[in-house]
Amino acid sequence: MKSKVFILYTGGTFGMKKTKNGLVPSSWEEIITYLPAIKNQTYFDFFSNIEFTFETLSTVVDSSDMNPEIWESIAKKIYAIYANYDGFIILHGTDTLAYSASALSFMFNHLNKPIVLTGAQLPIFHPRTDGIVNLSNAIYIAGYASFNITCIPEVCICFNDDVLRGNRSVKTSTNDFEGFSSPNYENLAHLEHDIHINNHILNPKTTKKLELLHLFSSRVVNVTIFPGYNAAPLIDLVNQKKLEGIVLKTYGSGNLPKTRQWRDLIIACEKNKTLVLATTQCPNGKIEIGQYASSEVLISENVVDGKDITSEAALTKLMWVIGNYSYEERHKILSNNIRGEMT
Ligand code: ASP
Repeated sequence: MKSKVFILYTGGTFGMKKTKNGLVPSSWEEIITYLPAIKNQTYFDFFSNIEFTFETLSTVVDSSDMNPEIWESIAKKIYAIYANYDGFIILHGTDTLAYSASALSFMFNHLNKPIVLTGAQLPIFHPRTDGIVNLSNAIYIAGYASFNITCIPEVCICFNDDVLRGNRSVKTSTNDFEGFSSPNYENLAHLEHDIHINNHILNPKTTKKLELLHLFSSRVVNVTIFPGYNAAPLIDLVNQKKLEGIVLKTYGSGNLPKTRQWRDLIIACEKNKTLVLATTQCPNGKIEIGQYASSEVLISENVVDGKDITSEAALTKLMWVIGNYSYEERHKILSNNIRGEMT
């Protein structure tokens, strides 16, 4: 079966070239011109069973410049053409790829097609690039119908030989080709000699109409507790109503120092309607409020148990929930697993 795949190039190392100031993204035209012409065919001709459409962001970026406005333009683009394609690929820098994948997963409700984010650790202009393998694997996942494989109806990251749920992924290496991992969840698929898809853990397919909720609050912070942390400036920010949400990265399974200031912070957050999403700073595992007496301060109606959510998903979910829902609705949506982001 012939399938239709939309590829959006946003920048990142995948298409970067050297300049005197360091690596910067090239244009899509430069990339296409460079992509290997083997036996007089261009790279994309090898996928004769797929009809491709290519687009680029108006300004291609190092993904350290990624932000909610760009997430909104990417999501609106996909939403506008959703019915015309079987799958979507977003070529993206690796630095913030896990944030973008998490953000997009929350923005789309009732997603029924693959949105595959990928990139590279070495530019495609480099002889040992991982970009070609990553793109080829992403084409298989997005163009699943042409290869007779299962549809993964999710925002996912395809990197090296893994497909990871987007909102479960973290960047774990700056140079390893296995650049991403999913610390608390199985991989959705492996692409080795054979393609193995873990059908039983995929988000279910749906016939409901796709919905897009695209707003994000910027009045949030990510706070990692450490021995000697002085919470007074944070309490001031809350009392000045500068913050609507805090991701609090506690020790271990939800523990905080027993000092008065952490209790004061939680009280100030209750008073000012600043939601606290409690998570762990450990790369693996989850928080369990109440397991230790040191987590007792978190027992508050204003604190949400983030369970085993990643930092990237916690932050983007909090920004998104505050952006799109009233204060009364926020706690419930944050507590619930809405896109497979937590257990
Ligand atoms: N700085 C680059 C980016 O995120 C890194 C990469 O793509 O690997 O755009």
